[in-house]
Amino acid sequence: MTKLAIDGGKPVRQKPYPIWPVSGEHEKNLLIEVLNSGKWGGSGGANVPDYVPKLPLFEKEFARFQSSSYGVSVMNGTLAITVALQAAGVKPYDEVIMPPYTFIATATAALLYGAIPVFVDVEEDTLLIDPEKVEEAITPKTKAIIAVHIGGTPANMDRLREISTKYNISLIEDAAQAVGSQWKGIAVGALGDLGTFSFQSSKNLTSGEGGMILSNKKHLADKAWSIANVGRVRDGAWYQHDSIGWNIRMTELQAAVLLGQMSRLEEQLQLREKNASLLDQLMGETKGIHLFRKDPRATRNGYHLYMFYLDRELSKKVNKEDFVRKMAAEGIPSTSGYKALNLYDSIIQSIKDWTGEKQQYHCPIAERMGNKQVIWITQTVLLGDEEGIYDAAKAVKKVMQSYL
Ligand SMILES: *Cc1c(COP(=O)(O)O)cnc(C)c1O
Repeated sequence: MTKLAIDGGKPVRQKPYPIWPVSGEHEKNLLIEVLNSGKWGGSGGANVPDYVPKLPLFEKEFARFQSSSYGVSVMNGTLAITVALQAAGVKPYDEVIMPPYTFIATATAALLYGAIPVFVDVEEDTLLIDPEKVEEAITPKTKAIIAVHIGGTPANMDRLREISTKYNISLIEDAAQAVGSQWKGIAVGALGDLGTFSFQSSKNLTSGEGGMILSNKKHLADKAWSIANVGRVRDGAWYQHDSIGWNIRMTELQAAVLLGQMSRLEEQLQLREKNASLLDQLMGETKGIHLFRKDPRATRNGYHLYMFYLDRELSKKVNKEDFVRKMAAEGIPSTSGYKALNLYDSIIQSIKDWTGEKQQYHCPIAERMGNKQVIWITQTVLLGDEEGIYDAAKAVKKVMQSYL
């Protein structure tokens, strides 16, 4: 057996992977234009004539790219989910069904204003919310389902739509990791009643921080706009506040960066898809690991993450952190990813603060997959060249062999 790099052997890879994010003259010029205009925020006008505001341009371009009619930009992806829930009519103490295998923000977006997460387990072979279990979790208090397209893989939107229609519940997509992903040729964010995105530093489209709410329904988009704009009315008077809202507008500077990033998006998406498919081929035969099932209806994957999982039996003797450390020594960035949200004391405590009840959710699949089995390879690997993909696959095989 070849000696692992962590034990002093030769690392599989010594070259770095591409850095993230990438920018150039385009972003620089757009930023300078905004700076010189004096219109830096999401309200007010410019100090120079003929200035074309970047926020509406970006909202339109991004919405179109994601098959949606309307876009409302906000400060981040967490509050985008909060706004979407509120626009859908979810009130404090209402229940929101969501998967536990996601970033904590999916849950905190609800808990921040007293809506209560109800965790429904994921499917073992996709890590996506299990629609059949969703139906069992519906109560008279359920007002929304959040589908999370984890890693970029679209959730089963056909089945979730059927259930949400049957019970007259809103369907919201947390598409923070799924810019560019499609379900049956339609981009995510346009499949539910509302869809939300994040432009935080690590995401596939970024301005450091930022978020967006999409909808095909004008009344929902107008409501989301109002909630994000201190309860103003879209074409109303400046000090007309018909409802209570946050003040969480995106800035023009962010919109400028995002417009620049949009021009790189399609090429990056194609590169990630091509490299992920090569990685699938190369990793498919590796003993001790499994790839997630691909639904043929998921016609495009944005691949924010490349995820795979350790075999269940083998995972009993493999520590994920140890696996990740060994991969790092071989020159391949990977992470051990999320723990199931229902295991967080902070979430259980917050639910208790609002409801007075200590909830115990059992999501055995998400718990086991999160604790023991799932490994992520970050998107920067997918943005590199073919050699980098061969190296990643080789490192997985080499590290895996040390456990067999
Ligand atoms: C990043 C992320 C969010 C939160 O977005 P922020 O912009 O960081 O607030 C929500 N859900 C998921 C699945 C995410 O990956």
